[in-house]
Amino acid sequence: MHVHDSLVELMGNTPLVRLRKVTSGPAPQVLAKVEYFNPGGSVKDRIAVRMIDAAEASGQLKPGGTIVEPTSGNTGVGLAIVAQERGYRCVFVCPDKVAKDKVDVLRAYGAEVVVCPTAVSPEHPDSYYSVSDRLAAEIPDAWKPNQYTNQNNPRSHYETTGPELWEQTEGKITHFVAGIGTGGTISGTGKYLKEISEGRVQIIGADPEGSVYSGGTGRPYLTEGVGEDIWPETYDRTICDEVIAVSDRDSFVMTRRLAREEGLLVGGSCGMAVVAALRVAETAGPDAVIVVLLPDGGRGYLSKIFNDEWMSQHGFSDDRSTTEATVGQV
Ligand code: PMP
Repeated sequence: MHVHDSLVELMGNTPLVRLRKVTSGPAPQVLAKVEYFNPGGSVKDRIAVRMIDAAEASGQLKPGGTIVEPTSGNTGVGLAIVAQERGYRCVFVCPDKVAKDKVDVLRAYGAEVVVCPTAVSPEHPDSYYSVSDRLAAEIPDAWKPNQYTNQNNPRSHYETTGPELWEQTEGKITHFVAGIGTGGTISGTGKYLKEISEGRVQIIGADPEGSVYSGGTGRPYLTEGVGEDIWPETYDRTICDEVIAVSDRDSFVMTRRLAREEGLLVGGSCGMAVVAALRVAETAGPDAVIVVLLPDGGRGYLSKIFNDEWMSQHGFSDDRSTTEATVGQV
């Protein structure tokens, strides 16, 4: 029988899919690493299992212990799946800009979720950083993976995402494009690809306008999971050859196009990364093989990016709203 005993075995080894419609032509190739194929629906499954394995090995996470983490949702899902299998309790702390659907998903997996205000500084006692620190100190046998400092976050990408891409492209990859949140994806994957290609592969970060990685001050933006107002330890500042800033509007319009034109129902940071990848494609030359990583699926964003009213309320309307398309067909 072809049976998997554990979902954890299925984390990683995601497919690479050619983008055909949103590109300006067949060359250069733009290939998407589609991370929603992970059992938890996002790239974060990779870091969840690696961080938990390491904490078990070092004795930081004890049998029956509690995992406490500030997470915008995806890391929580990955952690919750591994925790369920191995008998840990999960308490997650989320900023209030995260879509309610995503919080509901975490609760559905059996996690407890504490929601904190986004519009306060990281040092504020109500910030999601501070609240998670307090809970980790108060709950007995609590362990905080801290995806923003844990070096097993970039290491998981160095050990899985990077080698997968090298193998899947048979060493032909020339550019790797990914959004930067904790920086784990770009730092770990980028380090591996730089090493194996002897510096040939170009590493390009994608960042929401306003975030520090592309020279902003941390001013608010709506794209979830990417951008920062601090410099996390998991981001290797030496790895990116370039960081491209993308507006919320461009990111969300592209996210909607990916669903409608490529059949890829993905999240807003995916649209952002694709906008950056297409900018790279404009000057990369016809032989380039550009890989863009799409971190998660789009179901958690139905009430925002895929909602015409929400888009127009924020001044982001594209020229083909889904409502107009429906009315047109009647
Ligand atoms: N997109 C989404 C939706 C995410 O949740 C994350 C992780 N915060 C990222 C992109 C960025 O990945 P990383 O943290 O590895 O930089």
